Amino acid sequence: MNKQADPSRKGILFVVSAPSGAGKTSLCRELIDSVTDLEQSISFATRPRRDGERDGVDYHFVPSDTFRQMIERHQLAEWAEVHGNLYGTSLATIEDASLKGIDLLLDIDCQGAAQLRKSYRRGVFIFILPPDYDELERRLRERGTDSEEVILRRLRNAQQEIAQAEQYDYLVVNDDFSAAKAKLISIIHAERSRANRCRYLLQKFTS
Ligand code: 5GP
Repeated sequence: MNKQADPSRKGILFVVSAPSGAGKTSLCRELIDSVTDLEQSISFATRPRRDGERDGVDYHFVPSDTFRQMIERHQLAEWAEVHGNLYGTSLATIEDASLKGIDLLLDIDCQGAAQLRKSYRRGVFIFILPPDYDELERRLRERGTDSEEVILRRLRNAQQEIAQAEQYDYLVVNDDFSAAKAKLISIIHAERSRANRCRYLLQKFTS
């Protein structure tokens, strides 16, 4: 079900949010590797680049004033301040993918997802949950990258984020990585098969 098969096909926006530590980034990476015709949206971010990250691959790293200019020029489809840094999705990236029939995967926070829910009603909004708070705390500690203060802040933020989960179309619990991945893949295939997204399949049956 790609653009070649259906030139009028619009790309689907798959928006994934989760509290920090739920496994969202790893799951999104797996999806990009295993689902055909699915591309990762590369966000703009003002935070410093971490070791191993590449500009234009992991994020478009920009200074704050450049980011502010993008906001003023309405070049962002959504943006939010997360953990003291600014992150946003380029409007051109979304529009371009939609027109080219490319399905986009957006790994963004709840504030950004709430903005997109208003402007892209046909987007598919997925929330990844940890099995419970104890397991989330265990995973955050196991990473060994954050101070106690940061861990506690992430746990407090998780409560606020999970409170918004019911506004999403799908909830996926990441208790077992492979099972969660399989569920996400099923969601993508089911959404691609919606009748209103693949009416072209009926053409050869109508005279
Ligand atoms: P990190 O700095 O760890 O890569 O990401 C921190 C948080 O920012 C994650 O929850 C991630 O989903 C979110 N994020 C990344 N890109 C965007 C974006 O374009 N928009 C919004 N609203 N959040 C983003």
